[in-house]
Amino acid sequence: MKDKIRMSTPLVEMDGDEMARIIWKMVREELVEPFVDLKTEYYDLGLLNRNATEDTVTVEAAEAAKKYGVAVKCATITPNRQRMEEYPQLTRMWRSPNGTIRSILGGTVFRTPILADGILPAVRSWKRPITIARHAYGDVYRAVDLHTEEPGECTLTFRGESGSEKMLSVFRSNGPAVWQAQHNLDGSIRDFARSCFRFALEQKQDLWFCAKDTIAKVYDGRFREIFEEEYEAWKGEFEKQGIRYFYTLIDDAVARVIRSEGGFIWACKNYDGDVMSDMVSTAFGSVAMMSSVLVSPDGCYEFEAAHGTVTRHYYRYLRGEKTSTNPVAIIHAWGGALKKRGEKDGLPELSAFGEKLITACMDTLNSGIMTGDIAALAEKPVHTATTEEFICSVAEKLA
Ligand code: NAP
Ligand code: MG
Repeated sequence: MKDKIRMSTPLVEMDGDEMARIIWKMVREELVEPFVDLKTEYYDLGLLNRNATEDTVTVEAAEAAKKYGVAVKCATITPNRQRMEEYPQLTRMWRSPNGTIRSILGGTVFRTPILADGILPAVRSWKRPITIARHAYGDVYRAVDLHTEEPGECTLTFRGESGSEKMLSVFRSNGPAVWQAQHNLDGSIRDFARSCFRFALEQKQDLWFCAKDTIAKVYDGRFREIFEEEYEAWKGEFEKQGIRYFYTLIDDAVARVIRSEGGFIWACKNYDGDVMSDMVSTAFGSVAMMSSVLVSPDGCYEFEAAHGTVTRHYYRYLRGEKTSTNPVAIIHAWGGALKKRGEKDGLPELSAFGEKLITACMDTLNSGIMTGDIAALAEKPVHTATTEEFICSVAEKLA
């Protein structure tokens, strides 16, 4: 057997919950460890360990990602009321780990559908993936709302620390009314823009950004301005790579996206990204075929699958049944992370392995071996594989 591929800097590994955790272990043991002398800094973000460590493990994992620059994360349970009943030992309804990690690393989540032969997107013209970059701060998600009953005037006041004051009349209403105030921060918009330009350049794909600055002249206008200011720093590199940045209105963008062949990055404001990512992922096929990476403005990367812990399959697994849970996005997360680790450390063999892992996974799919969720969408008959069979087939291709 050939020597295993060496690593120099550890990969930050964040383990998770339920079926995703089961697949995680299989991918690590069967697809990575036989080929790579794997060095990871391991953090168990499984719900019970988050509880036992009072969630400090999540913060430590995020700090390690910041320190080393590359992490790979398994899906984790975000507890809700029902989970509190399911796990009576929980001392608190712990926060979403992804939220905690994002607040430490900052940056933008890029979600890209994974396309397999014979699984046709619902939009016939789409030939290549469309990556959604959603700004994950502010706007309606941090808005304040008010309902009033009597006639009256609503005003908006900003009080500067220097003592300056700016006031606007929102509206004078004759009867009951609803009101809302939103905000965003120049710093957050700038970080968003930087992460987008960096990612587009790495992917060698055009970057589209859209808002509604004809209506929200100041608010969306500021987004547009910041993107244009930031673009100045990247313009030379973009031109060298033959890619472009372009701004258009959200409604025009939607029409263009539908008519396009795909193969670009679509940067969206928070709400637009929330809505459009569900549209894009569904039209491309399945949530299990969506990869996700958080890119911080200073260039840290956290790779994961876009899907959750796949609870229903986990309970079947616990009953001893074989499941046909799709491991494609988890394999892509590992492949992407190893590739990035190799690039950062100047280890071409490691990068090449990350790429080969992804290729072996795609070759398996394209040879007609698929898990049940996508087998049902395939144009031609395919072999519906269990998770183990699928991983085994990827391992054979890799070897
Ligand atoms: P989910 O785990 O993504 O599963 C939703 C459904 O989608 C599944 O029941 C399954 O449908 C299908 N599915 C998802 N991934 C699949 C895969 N790899 N292979 C085959 N089918 C797949 O979402 P959820 O049920 O809303 O959430 C479950 C738990 O995951 C929650 O506790 C939530 O907090 C957590 N979550 C974590 C993350 C994260 O850490 N990034 C993201 C989302 C959710 P069928 O059952 O019909 O086969
Ligand atoms: Mg949503």
